[in-house]
Amino acid sequence: MEFSSKLLQNAVYEMSQLPGIGKRTALRLVLHLLKQPEERTELLAHALLKLKSEVNFCKNCHNISDTEVCEICANPKRDETMVCVVEDIRDVMAIENTSQYNGLYHVLGGKISPMEGVGPQDLNIAPLIKKVKDGTIKELILALSSTMEGDTTNFYIYKQLEGTEVTTSTIARGISVGDELEYADEVTLGRSIINRVPFESSIKAN
Ligand SMILES: [Zn+2]
Repeated sequence: MEFSSKLLQNAVYEMSQLPGIGKRTALRLVLHLLKQPEERTELLAHALLKLKSEVNFCKNCHNISDTEVCEICANPKRDETMVCVVEDIRDVMAIENTSQYNGLYHVLGGKISPMEGVGPQDLNIAPLIKKVKDGTIKELILALSSTMEGDTTNFYIYKQLEGTEVTTSTIARGISVGDELEYADEVTLGRSIINRVPFESSIKAN
């Protein structure tokens, strides 16, 4: 792509570093911003910088939060004996949208992936095991996507919990293998949480 301006070229380059944004889309977005009043761009840049510098993670579940403990963990109406283990905050948002779940969450921050060099120590697994061993949690729902990495992570957590009293279940998928939770529709996802199955039987089925 030939640019008549270095400034334009730089802006397009930076925009195209975002996932899913190719050079053409980047150019369209940059030209759009250029046409807007300066204030628009300032608000956008300011919101992003503020998010980056001030973002907090809930000390209990690792969800993104403006406060030390997130609104879900702080809500006394939520069932603290039930914890749903998810990969990232998009999964929390997807499950919350179903309105079918009243327990708490635990956000791992990714999945175990030897290919990408992500090991258990890179994820929020140790604090989860500690939480279970501390005793309040009765049921852990493993809700990672059913990819190889998701299965590996579920199994790793399951093994770490051997000898504890906690019941481990997994969400019953009407969702085909490899689909990410985020893309499942609300009805299917809601139903799969209600119809969750013991984790043991999900291993035998494989
Ligand atoms: Zn929380």
